[in-house]
Amino acid sequence: MEKMKGIHHITAIVGDPQENMDFYAGVLGLRFVKKTINFDDPGTYHFYFGNEGAEPGTIMTFFPWANAYKGRVGSGQVGITTFLIPPNALSFWEERLASFNIHTNKVIRFGETFLQFEDVHGLKLELVERENGKENTWEFNGVTKDVAIKGFGGAVLYSGAPHKTAELLETVMELESLGQEGNYLRYQAAGDIGNIIDIELSAVGRGVMGVGTVHHIAWRASNDEEHVKWQHKIHDHNYGVTEVKDRNYFNAIYFREHGGLLFEIATDPPGFMIDEQKDHLGEKLMLPKWQEPHRETIENHLQPIVVREVKGE
Ligand code: ZN
Repeated sequence: MEKMKGIHHITAIVGDPQENMDFYAGVLGLRFVKKTINFDDPGTYHFYFGNEGAEPGTIMTFFPWANAYKGRVGSGQVGITTFLIPPNALSFWEERLASFNIHTNKVIRFGETFLQFEDVHGLKLELVERENGKENTWEFNGVTKDVAIKGFGGAVLYSGAPHKTAELLETVMELESLGQEGNYLRYQAAGDIGNIIDIELSAVGRGVMGVGTVHHIAWRASNDEEHVKWQHKIHDHNYGVTEVKDRNYFNAIYFREHGGLLFEIATDPPGFMIDEQKDHLGEKLMLPKWQEPHRETIENHLQPIVVREVKGE
């Protein structure tokens, strides 16, 4: 069986869709790679952002719920989503975020400096400089490829049972333990990006799902065969894992780990170019074939959104 490579995507609940678009495409300079709907709730968008090639390990996705209640970041969630930037890019980002009146804060974990901030809806994010991960050649609104976000660095998990979550990562998912520093355990997956997972050991209070919180974290399987092996392995360790679900761009299985986080394992193929060519990713509202007959009703229900440049000060 293959080694776990790391994060495939992270999905969060946010507020107004245009505000979400302006933050992730406009401020952070990510590429908007897919506009679709929540397959379990067709009245809501599902937005996907990533690198130029929309590759696994770079995909941040959102359910924008304009009128939903604010959640609370806490245990049972990904507490902080870590994005990877090239070496020497941190000062660019510090200035850029300040120009958009976004408050930042620097912290050090395991000898690395993280620039922490919140998105427009309160989701906790951070940037870290690392050599690994290939350059993201998507350039937009003043973010050039020498500073562009390459994908995920990893994530900080807020678990209701940190040592049980750690045991899952280490013994079932077979991430490598990199030890403890202060109140953090660090694990490394086998991939090049989205591969550093820190578990927070200090008490953070219970999370409440809602706007500004991560809904789930998805891990990678290289193909359908490996995916089914993961499903069996997780089942054999007494986690209640779902059947394989067709998410159009990948197949998915889900399970709740003992610290309360919702984990997904998603296949790398077929990927985001199954229904749009690389140069046209994110341009049209894409519907799974079973929703195509309802396109007109669905489109009339959704607030129109645009990918646009936004200006700082
Ligand atoms: Zn997912």
